Amino acid sequence: MEKLFDLVIKNARVVRPNKTSVDCLDIAVKDEKISRLAPDIQAEQAKQVFDAKNLLAFPGCVDAHMHIGIYAPLGQDAVSESKAAAIGGVTSSLNYIRTGHYYLNRGGPYRDFMPAVLKQSEGRFWVDYGYHIAPIEAGHIDEMEHLALDYGIPSFKIFMFYGGYGLHGRSANQNEFLMIGPEDRYDIAHFEFIMRSAQRLMTKYPKLAAYISVSLHCELAEILNAYTKIVEREGKLTGLHAYSAARPPHSEGLAIWIASYLANETSCLNINLLHLSSRKAVDAAWIMQQVFPHIAFRREVTVGHLLLDTDCKCAIRAKVNPPIRPREDVEALWQAVLDRKIDWIVSDHACCSAEQKWSNDDPTNIWLAKAGFGGTEYLLSGVLSEGSKRGMSYNHMAELLSWKPAQRFGLLNKGDGLFTLRRAGAHGSREEHLPAGRSDLSWREGHWASAGSILTTAEASFDPLNRVNIRRN
Ligand SMILES: [Zn+2]
Repeated sequence: MEKLFDLVIKNARVVRPNKTSVDCLDIAVKDEKISRLAPDIQAEQAKQVFDAKNLLAFPGCVDAHMHIGIYAPLGQDAVSESKAAAIGGVTSSLNYIRTGHYYLNRGGPYRDFMPAVLKQSEGRFWVDYGYHIAPIEAGHIDEMEHLALDYGIPSFKIFMFYGGYGLHGRSANQNEFLMIGPEDRYDIAHFEFIMRSAQRLMTKYPKLAAYISVSLHCELAEILNAYTKIVEREGKLTGLHAYSAARPPHSEGLAIWIASYLANETSCLNINLLHLSSRKAVDAAWIMQQVFPHIAFRREVTVGHLLLDTDCKCAIRAKVNPPIRPREDVEALWQAVLDRKIDWIVSDHACCSAEQKWSNDDPTNIWLAKAGFGGTEYLLSGVLSEGSKRGMSYNHMAELLSWKPAQRFGLLNKGDGLFTLRRAGAHGSREEHLPAGRSDLSWREGHWASAGSILTTAEASFDPLNRVNIRRN
């Protein structure tokens, strides 16, 4: 007899966002789609049966802040890092990209740059993927419309510290790093014009307006430069303590005030404050929300900042921007999560191999180490284990890991999918969840999407329902 389903997963504890309970259900799959979600689906009706034995079934995570192509060629990184994403329970990966050093190591207009990015990406990701773009030179501001309409990329990034401070430390030649002309300035005025351009697009394309946003890395170069000098000169601190002191939290707070003021000034109403790392950053972001209630701020934290502190054993391997902070800041971030002041949790994945991470001549020197590390592979398991200890509900986790980033960035067929099975309270390991890799699964409204989807320009449109133009293989 013809079987009704290809697969039935029995006895899963199904976690969904926007609910207050976790239900023990069976999940039936037919033609790569979830066709039924119900208690007691007959095992005999399926070609294949898997007993989840009460594991938690979470929606596929939407990791809305990743980087590929920083420390390895983009095409190579896309394969390995999207596998890391799939292993971790992430089914959608949104990657920040820009011109300049790293990535494709080239400057110039995005009309030349993006086709190269897409070519190197094509067919290489093991999860659904898309990009956010940073307008780096003045000419890029005029390209934002083209990027939004022709590439379906309406989310833009500003690195507030890049004008006067390098990726790994002090720098006097940022124009060279960013590969922009001597007349170009990557400064507050440039950030203002990015916001004005985004605002114009919101007005011109009302259907797309909800998905047009500006994301900011909030740290200020002047303060980083001054404090780095002080910390280096004093020489009292080492490792992560030194790096945190060299990039002090009030630099984040002040940058958030400036960014928010500019957002109000330009009526750029969708602002994402990325990777808040400290109590001062969270406080500043929350105050700005009260001052400018009409601005739809979104506040992001990373799993790294939630799990690590300046005393962690990983020492300089945990160098990242903004820095890993002392424990009291980490707990302030968790409190903000629990108080629902945080909108989503991401990895800020920027895989840097050990050989590249530190200087061979001086491996414990924090100033010589490279910034960034992985995270997408433990995004869900990290939040699950540490969040559970602090009383965070599974539904709330699903909201911050899947639902809310999907809504913001227009991934409207995502964010409430079922994908990965986890043991409550346990750290994730590769064995704990299934399926993984190319057989992974995500769901919403009865729809499965397989991993290994590709991004194409052919399907580009500004239909917000198809924001990253994902096409199945
Ligand atoms: Zn980042």
